[in-house]
Amino acid sequence: MTAPSSAPSNAGIRRLVIALGGNALATAQDAGPRAQQAAVEVAMEQVAELVASGYEIAITHGNGPQVGNLMLKNELARDVVPAVPLDWCVAQTQATIGYLIATALERSLARRGIERAIAVLVTRVLVDARDPAFSNPSKPIGNDRRLVASPEPQRVLDEASIVRLLDDGGVVVGAGGGGVPMVLEQGALRGVEAVIDKDLCAALLADHLAADALVIATDVPGVALELDSDRPRWLGRISADRLGELHRAGTFPAGSMGPKVEACLRFVRAGVGRRASIAALQDLGGAVAGERGTIVVGGSG
Ligand code: ADP
Ligand code: MG
Repeated sequence: MTAPSSAPSNAGIRRLVIALGGNALATAQDAGPRAQQAAVEVAMEQVAELVASGYEIAITHGNGPQVGNLMLKNELARDVVPAVPLDWCVAQTQATIGYLIATALERSLARRGIERAIAVLVTRVLVDARDPAFSNPSKPIGNDRRLVASPEPQRVLDEASIVRLLDDGGVVVGAGGGGVPMVLEQGALRGVEAVIDKDLCAALLADHLAADALVIATDVPGVALELDSDRPRWLGRISADRLGELHRAGTFPAGSMGPKVEACLRFVRAGVGRRASIAALQDLGGAVAGERGTIVVGGSG
């Protein structure tokens, strides 16, 4: 007997971490406020639908284009107003993008007659001061694609607040842009000029929240093999073992798809029965339902 086609492929999933791509929110063609707001609205319509279906949701987001452009503005205006460091810019973009998300989600929920507390949390993340990334700036940000250091996230410092807000029934927006990077120095925290990869931080957060699924929404329909060929092969459901083999073989570039694949593998491997997806921003709902995007499942499948 074959499985009934009505069997929900998202059975057992209750708590979600959704990571929205910074590039999906601000396209290379248009990083203006209107375009960003429109992209956030598209995503939040789907998040509202997921809230209505009963999922507990924490949202995180990238900020690569936004934080780079803010740095550039700071530099261009430095003779008029004092420039602020990169960690300040990360915190500022968390607030701005969080504000857009909260406002759009609230509106989408209201259309469905749902009232829910939405909290945007400025979130700090611990990194290691001796991380080799500090001597090898590799992450391109902003329209001028400048390279900055991107150390490994070690711990979401504000994770207890995120857990509490979520347990309390709210929708939480946290660890935006991968979080504000901080190092411990003689027992005291200090912000550092770097950006943390939001996909790796999302995996860390999802693990700590004991989420059932991590969904990474970006500007392509999923993970492809032979992306640059005439006929890219888009991966659907794939085991962590198989995807891990492809990843080890260097199939996915470090600055874009690599960290998403790495994040999915880390999250799925750190717990039983977990699922991670990479899908287009417009396919968020379908990705949670297991119908869209690349879906990474545990073990050998
Ligand atoms: P985000 O802001 O969502 O993190 P990124 O630009 O970092 O977006 O990553 C998404 C990009 O990864 C896509 O636009 C695509 O060009 C690129 N990419 C590189 N390799 C692959 C691949 N194998 N499959 C799909 N996309 C890939
Ligand atoms: Mg990225």
